[in-house]
Amino acid sequence: MSSSSEAVPPEASAERRAELAAGLADVRERIAAACADAGRDPAGVTLIAVTKTWPASDVAALASLGVRDVAENKDQEARAKFASLASLDVRWHFVGQLQRNKARSVVRYADVVHSVDRPELVTALAGAASRHRENPLDVLLQVDLDEGSSAGRGGVAPSAVASLASEVAASGSLRLVGLMAVAPLGADPDAAFARLADVSVALRNDHEDATWISAGMSGDLESAVRHGATHVRVGSALLGKRVSGHGSVRP
Ligand SMILES: *Cc1c(COP(=O)(O)O)cnc(C)c1O
Repeated sequence: MSSSSEAVPPEASAERRAELAAGLADVRERIAAACADAGRDPAGVTLIAVTKTWPASDVAALASLGVRDVAENKDQEARAKFASLASLDVRWHFVGQLQRNKARSVVRYADVVHSVDRPELVTALAGAASRHRENPLDVLLQVDLDEGSSAGRGGVAPSAVASLASEVAASGSLRLVGLMAVAPLGADPDAAFARLADVSVALRNDHEDATWISAGMSGDLESAVRHGATHVRVGSALLGKRVSGHGSVRP
């Protein structure tokens, strides 16, 4: 349990802070260049710092450097970081695969859940949100752009997006804000993100407020911006290489 009023905020070393500042300048420059190439306003692309595996002190340092959105992919780790940083002025995004039994925990600290991909999860999150939150929880449907692969990173098939979206819209305690996807490993990200853009257009026919396209990571954010991403989720280009096998979506 957090006692945020007494918690001493963790602090990154000056050296680490400088490293993060350089990473952030670099990533912001890449986003700006990608927007210029695509004829888009950089204000239309929100940078979400994916802080998984990195300490809470890094999250605090990034926030002090102007980052307003942070993401985690594991409930236990996210919950602990949130508890030590509860007074920090950032939005917490949950981007990992989520089990139903974690819904009750996640709805207490997450502002946005990007990884809704099946009806049972809608039911679990909706129930938990109505019991434990005052405001609806913002959610995105994670779209599987790698159908037929056994990678197991989750996601709903493009053909099932409409029906899952209706379930979210009917829930009352969840607010559908858009779509999220990860480009398939080893495939052309442009083709994948173009497909995601099409799915988004179709979704907005029925849900005009579901405008977010959460796509693009360290390796492919330019492609995502080219295809309309409104939110890019960047980890390693910002914070450094994660220890292999620990929290990475890329094996
Ligand atoms: C880890 C992760 C990212 C960030 O990946 P990087 O390649 O480190 O930028 C983005 N999205 C999801 C869902 C992730 O799990």
